[in-house]
Amino acid sequence: MKRTVFEPEHESYRQVVREFVNRHLVAQIDRHRREHSIDRQTWRTSGEFGLLGFFVPEQYGGGGAADFRFDAVQGFNAVQGEELSRLSYGYASAFGINTDIVAPYLLELTTEEQKQRWLPAFAAGETIASIAITEPNAGSDVLGIRTTATRDGSGWILNGAKTFITNGSSADLIVVAAKSEKDKPSRSISLFVVETVASPVDRGPSLEKVGQTEVETSELFFDNVYVDAANLLGEPGAGFGYMVERLAQERLSCAIASLGHARAAMEETIEYVRQRSAFGQPIGSFQASRFRLADCHTMLDVATAWVDRCIEAHIEGQLTPVDAAKAKLAATEVQNKVIDDCLQLHGGYGYMQEYRIAQAWQDARVTRIFGGTSEVMREIIGRSLSLSTQPSQKGVRDAS
Ligand SMILES: Cc1cc2nc3c(=O)[nH]c(=O)nc-3n(C[C@H](O)[C@H](O)[C@H](O)COP(=O)(O)OP(=O)(O)OC[C@H]3O[C@@H](n4cnc5c(N)ncnc54)[C@H](O)[C@@H]3O)c2cc1C
Repeated sequence: MKRTVFEPEHESYRQVVREFVNRHLVAQIDRHRREHSIDRQTWRTSGEFGLLGFFVPEQYGGGGAADFRFDAVQGFNAVQGEELSRLSYGYASAFGINTDIVAPYLLELTTEEQKQRWLPAFAAGETIASIAITEPNAGSDVLGIRTTATRDGSGWILNGAKTFITNGSSADLIVVAAKSEKDKPSRSISLFVVETVASPVDRGPSLEKVGQTEVETSELFFDNVYVDAANLLGEPGAGFGYMVERLAQERLSCAIASLGHARAAMEETIEYVRQRSAFGQPIGSFQASRFRLADCHTMLDVATAWVDRCIEAHIEGQLTPVDAAKAKLAATEVQNKVIDDCLQLHGGYGYMQEYRIAQAWQDARVTRIFGGTSEVMREIIGRSLSLSTQPSQKGVRDAS
């Protein structure tokens, strides 16, 4: 069935992303993985290709596009997520933090002065961005964070620690969630943009992960870090609401990249089972292989139909938190099942690092954890069924 969500101009943009991937990422992926980092020149090149700024209004140095499918007013970027994840989910994660997750905060919650200060370098690929919510003792339970922001003259002093922060070691600009208001549980969090040149932050080395090794994932330490009042995002105490409002887009973005990743793995596997023989015949000709791949194809197509419908709903401003949670839950669970089946069809080679399917298998595992775990997604969906009389757990990475 032909997908109808993308128009010809989105397909043209897809070719631009593919060109960037083929010319600039394919040759570098092994080095990025060894170094656990994407070098600054690659970020700048992605900026030159317009990948980081096409949704930024032209007066701030961007492309001024305003369409949710190749970007959006809110920075959401379906085409880019699909294409980057075809090579490696890690690139979709690293660039997606900039374009899909941090961009909406910088576009929607900023003053004119802040836009002029931050957006041009962001669009040019000169600014690497992070968002720092998770702490050693608070991941799913966002209201449990302990980092504090204390007023100090014309600014704020931040104290605390964050962990698992994507792009964290290199980030020039970090959106940080901190408790600024005491005794107001759901109005206690404020968001700050920490510019790391003006407000240096101690950072740990990139953490050793199971997969997505090209992406930096770091600990950050705030020890009396001064942040100017001009770097507060929106209103003090409104941070939790701001985060919740943007979770649906973050989850949809994760769903899209997850399906792109799994589809690429499946296509490669179909080629593999055509070439590889056992007992005098291609392994793809065994009924067990055909059935396995038929299941993969079906799961992917069905999940894609739901996610495409969610993209349309998002364009119309109608995407609900529950539907976005279903998209993330379905897409990431399907991704992991499909890639595991594809690894099985590779036999022992599938377990060798030099095979892309082995890498894809490791890269996929985390999608059921970050951006809200599968359990949290089920919690959000389950609550919409009005089955429980228990009080809701406020603070769960929840958008309901
Ligand atoms: C590679 C990677 C990149 C990341 N990038 C970022 C980033 O850039 N910025 C950032 O802020 N964070 C980031 N994270 C953090 C990520 O969002 C959290 O890991 C995730 O939200 C889960 O939190 P946790 O790890 O503390 O697990 P916990 O919250 O401790 O959960 C542990 C287990 O308990 C379950 N659980 C928790 N609460 C409930 C509940 N109410 N009902 C049922 N089950 C529950 C969970 O589903 C899970 O199985 C990243 C994580 C990883 C691994």
